[in-house]
Amino acid sequence: MARNWKDLVRPHIWDLKPYSSARDEYSGEAKVFLDANENPYDDKETGWNRYPDPYQREIKKQLAAIKAVPEESIFIGNGSDEAIDLLYRIFCEPGKDNVILCPPTYGMYEVSASIHNVETIKVELTEDYQLQVAKILEAQNEYSKLLFICSPNNPTGNVLQKEAIEQLLQGFQGIVVIDEAYIDFSSEASWLTHLNQYDNLVIMQTMSKAWGLAAVRLGMAFTNPELISIFNKVKPPYNISGPNQQVVLEALHNKSQVESEVNKILADREKLATVLQELEVVTRIHPSDANFLLVEVKDAALLYKQLLTKEIVVRDRSKVSLCGNCLRITVGTQEENNKLLESLSNINQVVK
Ligand code: PMP
Repeated sequence: MARNWKDLVRPHIWDLKPYSSARDEYSGEAKVFLDANENPYDDKETGWNRYPDPYQREIKKQLAAIKAVPEESIFIGNGSDEAIDLLYRIFCEPGKDNVILCPPTYGMYEVSASIHNVETIKVELTEDYQLQVAKILEAQNEYSKLLFICSPNNPTGNVLQKEAIEQLLQGFQGIVVIDEAYIDFSSEASWLTHLNQYDNLVIMQTMSKAWGLAAVRLGMAFTNPELISIFNKVKPPYNISGPNQQVVLEALHNKSQVESEVNKILADREKLATVLQELEVVTRIHPSDANFLLVEVKDAALLYKQLLTKEIVVRDRSKVSLCGNCLRITVGTQEENNKLLESLSNINQVVK
């Protein structure tokens, strides 16, 4: 049995009296707003002279319909990186608590732990990039507050087995965070349909990948409504700017465009993989459920530099555990992919 998530929250966070903004205190239909020391002149007719909705209610209404979860189960952050940071603030006592990470995985879980002076316990994935459930459960102790699971995983690209995640949801004594940044590219279903089953489950998603809004910075965390209210208490009052909220609302009305772009990216990923595996420099392509490929090559550091001379940037992951000689390559436009393939085949000739 998992511990009650409420016992995991840092005591002073329960007691925290949050900042109460002018927009928090009034939610009715007024006509004259003299409460927030704003400039009253809306010169650009954008409404940007006013503070934005601190709780992004319009966005949550749309997201609730798209994701089939209640509005009260949604937190919106300035990128999922803000949600990660808030999880540490809410649950982890610096110098005392710890979190469990399963490398190779997304780097911010560890950076955020360092920022907050929180210990990390690492239980590597297996050789085929799956979770070591028994080892994770053995590694936890009374100070283990968060377990980060990334599925599809960055940088490996694969989905983590459902049974393993289920066992961790049942056996881990802290909060299980499933990062689904790449879920829109996956053939596997999201864990959102299981939200009701587990109070200790937090699911993160983002508008930075399939939704094409990386510059906008908008991430989501889904969990039980009581924990959402703690996120809201700890976050900066106006964490999502007004212009960003407008851009996101427009994008949410264009779901079909995102779906067609995702289909294009998935088809191009397969084409890219097919050509890549014919190259002499490529030794292995890992299966991907995301919009990138983890590609093992003969000499990753050298190939990375050679591609840079051709003005192509990929991600060298060769120093990351279990990723020796691997490059992570994002699926680009057809033109970008062709440029990559052309450069690689020229390099290939030289290597031969
Ligand atoms: N999670 C994963 C697995 C990622 O790969 C990334 C970005 N590379 C993020 C979260 C961060 O997303 P955001 O842009 O929403 O902060």
